[in-house]
Amino acid sequence: MSDDVNPFESLQEQIDDAAAHLDVSDGLITRLKNPERILETNLTVELDDGSLDTLRAYRSEFNGDRGPYKGGIRYHPGVDRDEVKALSGWMVYKCATVGIPYGGGKGGISIDPSDYSEEELERITRAFAVELRPLIGEDKDIPAPDVNTGQREMNWIKDTYETLENTTEPGVITGKDIDSGGSEGRVEATGRSTVLAAREAFEYLGRDIADATVAVQGYGNAGWITAKLADEMGATVVSVSDSSGGIYDEDGIDPVAAKDHKRETGSVVGFHGATEEISNDDLLTLDVDLLVPAALENAIDADLAEDVSADVISEAANGPLTPDADDVLVDEDVLVVPDILANAGGVTVSYFEWVQNRQRFYWSEEKVNDELETIIVDAFDDLVEAYETHDLPNFRTAAYVVAIQRVVDAYDQAGTWP
Ligand code: NAD
Repeated sequence: MSDDVNPFESLQEQIDDAAAHLDVSDGLITRLKNPERILETNLTVELDDGSLDTLRAYRSEFNGDRGPYKGGIRYHPGVDRDEVKALSGWMVYKCATVGIPYGGGKGGISIDPSDYSEEELERITRAFAVELRPLIGEDKDIPAPDVNTGQREMNWIKDTYETLENTTEPGVITGKDIDSGGSEGRVEATGRSTVLAAREAFEYLGRDIADATVAVQGYGNAGWITAKLADEMGATVVSVSDSSGGIYDEDGIDPVAAKDHKRETGSVVGFHGATEEISNDDLLTLDVDLLVPAALENAIDADLAEDVSADVISEAANGPLTPDADDVLVDEDVLVVPDILANAGGVTVSYFEWVQNRQRFYWSEEKVNDELETIIVDAFDDLVEAYETHDLPNFRTAAYVVAIQRVVDAYDQAGTWP
């Protein structure tokens, strides 16, 4: 893992790499590489013992050419201005890659949520929602969950917004509980697209995911669902990990039992259904067919990439490979399905949730999953076409070529002010 790589610089490098294959002016490329606006704010909240705490929070609205800003809210000590800028930019190109009508945004609070009680987290979340209120709205900017936030936080933000605005507007935020206007299939969506994209990648290589061995780094929402669905497709999950370490079993790990163990003990480590404990770096270099980084940015840098033995990487996490690592993996013939396609299931089903909220008409889980599969498979095909037509170095550049062209077209079609 590399802490030295600035994710915002990685994003800008990825855009430059792709823009070199397109006819886009330098002025427009500068626009495509920078956020439109950023809210940076201090939240002062009362803790349970009566003392005050002040926390730094951000919301970056990167680009709205294709629709309202869209993207999650992260609670993590590593949240800072550049991370939020990068994550919001990746959302722009992710939404464009899968062709859903959104721009990109992202927010976060620099906080370790495990240091706070549930009551304190509710006050912190509502304080953030008050700051976000002028920016958000179902036609303006629509937040969603990210690392360490989930349905609970989304329900609080929705309630704060609706109370202050004296309205009902469930589409102001996605990733809510079903009874608060959430969608069937949303919780599983990111893992589902990660596995669907991996399935397509194996098919592209003339192979079957059912024969694959799989390692998953990070066992939260994205990682554990990826493991479960890969297992359901017949693949063998041999290793999983979280921030406390990893476990390995060459005969396969039962993903559901490992998740139950994590729920009970806080970690997958110590799970009796695996034979060995391994480090996160060991997991990333295992000789498996499919590697799924599902934790945080920069998990694999160029040094570690030299030792990666997987044939396919499907990026559940945002930005898990540094740009240098990408170059090494091209040389080593590892097929990387980029985050902006692989994990786009989350935002795609968020889009379905928003559509359902606006129509006040709700879909079955089967319909959600079918529509998601169509979007991911079509997007994968678009990416392959760009990869082959433009003779591009890797699938990431292909995804950016497709996505940037779509953003550029929207920008051009909007015209200029006289
Ligand atoms: P989460 O909080 O549910 O889970 C994160 C997991 O990563 C936890 O198991 C944690 O222990 C583990 N982890 C943290 N640091 C680690 C490290 N250094 N090594 C190994 N494991 C580590 O978060 P999530 O929602 O699953 O998000 C994970 C990634 O997926 C993030 O990059 C996020 O941006 C991306 N993502 C999530 C969604 C979504 O809908 N949840 C959508 C798109 C992308």
